Amino acid sequence: MLGTAPKLPEFALRAIGLEKTYPAQKGLAPVKALNGVSLDIPRGSIFGLLGPNGAGKSTLINIFAGLVRKTGGTGEIWGVDIDANPRQARAAIGVVPQEINMDPFFTPIESLEYQAGFYGVPKSERRSMEILEAMGLADKAGAYVRALSGGMKRRLLIAKALVHSPPVLVLDEPTAGVDIELRRQLWDYVRDLHQRGATIILTTHYLEEAQELCDKIAIINHGEVVACEDKDTLLKRLDHKTLTIHPTEKLTKIPAKLRGLDASLDPAGVLTIRYRTREHGVASLIQLVQASGISISDLQTAEPDLEDVFLSLTSRQAS
Ligand code: ADP
Ligand code: MG
Repeated sequence: MLGTAPKLPEFALRAIGLEKTYPAQKGLAPVKALNGVSLDIPRGSIFGLLGPNGAGKSTLINIFAGLVRKTGGTGEIWGVDIDANPRQARAAIGVVPQEINMDPFFTPIESLEYQAGFYGVPKSERRSMEILEAMGLADKAGAYVRALSGGMKRRLLIAKALVHSPPVLVLDEPTAGVDIELRRQLWDYVRDLHQRGATIILTTHYLEEAQELCDKIAIINHGEVVACEDKDTLLKRLDHKTLTIHPTEKLTKIPAKLRGLDASLDPAGVLTIRYRTREHGVASLIQLVQASGISISDLQTAEPDLEDVFLSLTSRQAS
């Protein structure tokens, strides 16, 4: 066939200098939730938008979902400008909101059919039952939404976001308040959708979750993107751990043998060593500590948490 295939966009989603200031409320100052966010999310990725509560993740997502009106910048979904062609742009995206809000009087199947109607999906192309099955809700198709558990409601929200078969699926904190087993199930389903070609964008404040699922991660803090790179590159930059040693006898200074390390001593005599896992193994560090004459009463190791990640990224940017 000689026909030209429709050209697929390089980016599933683009934010170009997006800004959002929520107006002042009841004596409070206006809130600048997004301060010039630019992001290119490649088609075909599982992209993690990672940041603490209040970072601006939902604001960003909701601008693309058409739920929040931006105050500056531009956005594109599947190569289509969200201002110039909002309907066409939004046809390419399915958003699973962070907050569960559903009509309590619709059954899941009605809810999906209604959503399909809203998006203008012809009856012959609807797959409501198939989607419910995939989300493990087939036996609840006719139940009242108010009779569903929290986990089922969350799966129903995902099902609703899928009715118009969007190539881009955005999940805003999908596992908040979800138990471990359901979390696994959701992740498996997300991976499955991804394998079938969808671009997945996921917001989370769990480093671990972004780490497990995503191939690319952007970190957002105070409405600004502080990092955006391949997961592996990011994790290599963050590969430090800490080893905390409680000596049997109180230390007053760091032994000379340990001076080459990033070691610190607190007033209680507890020794903390920061190390890179690529450079040191914990066993050799412990040997070194013992060889320096310290006898160890107790020890712990710790991995960086999100707070450490921000500190390390922002201090790196400053230098
Ligand atoms: P995240 O999803 O990363 O937790 P949000 O986008 O929900 O962050 O919030 C970013 C900032 O905007 C926060 O300071 C939050 O309090 C504020 N904010 C969010 N929604 C509103 C709103 N509707 N009105 C006023 N301020 C808001
Ligand atoms: Mg949020």
